[in-house]
Amino acid sequence: MTSILIAEDEARIAAFVEKGLRASGYATTIATDGRTALDLATTGLFDLLVLDIGLPGLDGFSVLRRLRADKHTLPVVILTARDAVDDTVAGLEGGADDYVTKPFRFAELLARIRLRLRDDRASEVTVLSAGELQLDLLTRTAAVAGRSVALSSREFSLAEAFLRHPGQVLSREQLLSSVWGYDFDPGSNVVDVYVRYLRRKLGVGRFETVRGMGYRLVSAG
Ligand code: CA
Repeated sequence: MTSILIAEDEARIAAFVEKGLRASGYATTIATDGRTALDLATTGLFDLLVLDIGLPGLDGFSVLRRLRADKHTLPVVILTARDAVDDTVAGLEGGADDYVTKPFRFAELLARIRLRLRDDRASEVTVLSAGELQLDLLTRTAAVAGRSVALSSREFSLAEAFLRHPGQVLSREQLLSSVWGYDFDPGSNVVDVYVRYLRRKLGVGRFETVRGMGYRLVSAG
């Protein structure tokens, strides 16, 4: 199983990332300070490191620098504040590293992680389909019966969440956290609004309302 080390001192964000990664089939370990993160990252037990920049003890940049100085090639996806992007980009190493700005949506982080792991997971599916509906995860485009349908990036992520869990009832809370991220108000009706958009674009019968529980993808048709 692919193992991911999460170096993040903010418990809420660490839990959010861990929950999402486990649901996506990864094994996870959390480190809450830079020194622990560096020690664990050098054990060879992990396939990728999700690295927060603002860590106590040793900050993310120092962790990354020491890893690279010791010739560890572990891919790293950095979590950084929007106003620190310039510094972050300067600290990235060639193709090994990537970054996501906070606040981020889980789908966004997962896409970066998959990209960094690509070599090891060449067999990873890149097209998801349900009946006549197809989503191409590399080009982020959708098609119904071979005809392409324009989706916004939010709509695409929501459709992707459904296609990754065919036949399963997904609650509003699950969809909010996987598509909108941890900063979203749980009382928001944005999920219902976007399901309506998807119904309009991809077919009214495709997303079934399960009363009191959430929504489910209907795979036929
Ligand atoms: Ca932090």
